[in-house]
Amino acid sequence: MSMSNLQKTDPAIYDIIKAEEKRQKEGLELIASENYVSQSVLEAMGTVLTNKYSEGYPGRRYYGGNEIIDQVEDVAIDRAKKLFGAEHVNVQPLSGSPANLAVYMALLKPGDKVLGFSLDQGGHLSHGHPLNFSGLLYTIVPYFVDKKTERVDMDEVEKIAMKEKSKMILAGFSAYSRDFDWKRFSEIAKKVGAVSFADIAHVAGLIAGKQLESPVPYFDVVSTTTHKTLRGPRGAMIMCKEEYAKAIDRAVFPGVQGGPHDHINAAKAVAFGEALKPEFQEYAKQVIKNAQALSKSMQDRGYRVVSGGTDNHLFLVDMFGSKGITGKEAEKALEHVGISINKNMVPYDPRKPLDPSGIRLGTPALTTRKMVEMDMEIVADLMDRTLMVKDDEEKLNQMRNEVREFSVKFPLP
Ligand SMILES: *Cc1c(COP(=O)(O)O)cnc(C)c1O
Repeated sequence: MSMSNLQKTDPAIYDIIKAEEKRQKEGLELIASENYVSQSVLEAMGTVLTNKYSEGYPGRRYYGGNEIIDQVEDVAIDRAKKLFGAEHVNVQPLSGSPANLAVYMALLKPGDKVLGFSLDQGGHLSHGHPLNFSGLLYTIVPYFVDKKTERVDMDEVEKIAMKEKSKMILAGFSAYSRDFDWKRFSEIAKKVGAVSFADIAHVAGLIAGKQLESPVPYFDVVSTTTHKTLRGPRGAMIMCKEEYAKAIDRAVFPGVQGGPHDHINAAKAVAFGEALKPEFQEYAKQVIKNAQALSKSMQDRGYRVVSGGTDNHLFLVDMFGSKGITGKEAEKALEHVGISINKNMVPYDPRKPLDPSGIRLGTPALTTRKMVEMDMEIVADLMDRTLMVKDDEEKLNQMRNEVREFSVKFPLP
């Protein structure tokens, strides 16, 4: 994208942006929540739509001059409805956490009980971290994975739900590699009279791309970010049954937010348009194939993969358990050579969150760069050889060159 004005008026920021662009080109991005948006999504974000104030909803705004902005928001809503088959959509949430705050506000009172996936086993901060609004304002009861299978045991979830009679059941994750049984979750919620809430931030693109089952038909409310596998701008949206539409809209505005970010909503519409194309289904299919190939290549090299594999775009490697390397050490060595990953707890981790046993690997970004299964073997080899020389600065520098040579063969979109 042309930044000729910025280059002239603010070379300091221009240089920083160019440096980040270079880092993204020359490195391997394996952080499961990241991706590369298209040039069209980037262009839509950098527009005069950022100049507008439009508190309210299409046709019901608190400011004048919104006849064009209404069109942008309507197109974004229509495309999202088509993409997920949702009854009602609110595209205004600024990001995943504020979206979830709005859902809690719409459906609960402070102190109400929420059943959510344990944070150290794959849940998100906004599913009950003690320092997050969710943990501060609500009573969170966690469910866990089975120690042996490392998968969520739905009979156990039902048992906890029956005992606790929570007001809401939250299904969703940031670090879990197996498909969720959405239907069973919604049945349990009905049985105990809880409202069902699915947070599909991580897998929305795989659901939109028709490779994973969707919770939208079963759940009362579904939230998602738009910037992870869905490959749109940084932001979020909430889908719900008509019955909850008013409460959700009121919770987003004026409950949690003021004016929407209309330039971002335009970019969301562009991303939804891209996701409606058949090519997007090919991308989603390849994301999963790549994750399964990478997981196998790591296992072939003696790394233990949590639950033995993956159904989606990510998986966890038990570094400490299989190689005696901590998650923090692995993250540092890989960062040195230009491979971005994040340290992560593994289920029932004996180590602490700041230096856990595991790392999380994801394939959406590499897939967007058009890598396929065969390339995953090379990525696994680069990671393995880096970890083997993690204390040798000179050898790490050699690995850095190898990673760069390989990465630049796959241009950013
Ligand atoms: C990423 C994520 C979010 C929050 O997204 P932000 O945009 O970073 O606030 C919420 N829920 C889940 C499950 C996530 O993975």
